[in-house]
Amino acid sequence: MYRIRLFAVRRARAFEWIYKRVEQVMVALDPLFAKIGYNRVERPIALIEKGVKTLLFDCKMCGQCVLSSTGMSCPMNCPKQLRNGPCGGVRQGGFCEVKPEMKCVWALGWDGASRMKEGATKIREVLPPVDRSLQGSSSWLRASREVAAQNRETRDAARMALAEAFPEARLQEPSAAPLAEEPPKATNTGRGA
Ligand code: SF4
Repeated sequence: MYRIRLFAVRRARAFEWIYKRVEQVMVALDPLFAKIGYNRVERPIALIEKGVKTLLFDCKMCGQCVLSSTGMSCPMNCPKQLRNGPCGGVRQGGFCEVKPEMKCVWALGWDGASRMKEGATKIREVLPPVDRSLQGSSSWLRASREVAAQNRETRDAARMALAEAFPEARLQEPSAAPLAEEPPKATNTGRGA
């Protein structure tokens, strides 16, 4: 597992790309999930997520995945469980002071982030503390649901702006959108041949 974790950090850019594709698929599935019920899909998706991410990242299912901000190195594997790091105890060669046989999770994180497209910027953002009440839940589902909700809001706002702008435009310049003359046939109420 530890070796796979190191591999994931070395391939951080590829995993960043894969993560984005997974998110796109999950967002596209939002109407289906909503129809089935998010509560019902939570458990099976959390199980799939746990299987995949435990294998690749030694995921602890904290429920608020930050891998894309931590160079694909899971911060929950830090013995101090720091959400921002590294601490001041990194040993020579980038090893952990608590588990000297292990590379510091955060030293790996900065390495992974430097290989990613957006990682170098994201790792500088201060992450909030872990919310333990989300332990065991699916981060994939939560994140994609939030993106889908944002997309809906943006679409609704654009529709609303258009609806508001159109009558205003007609008031300002009625000739810009004249009503078409109704063809005589269309106004003829009698039934033709
Ligand atoms: S940050 Fe949380 S969800 Fe992401 S890999 Fe680590 S424990 Fe799993």
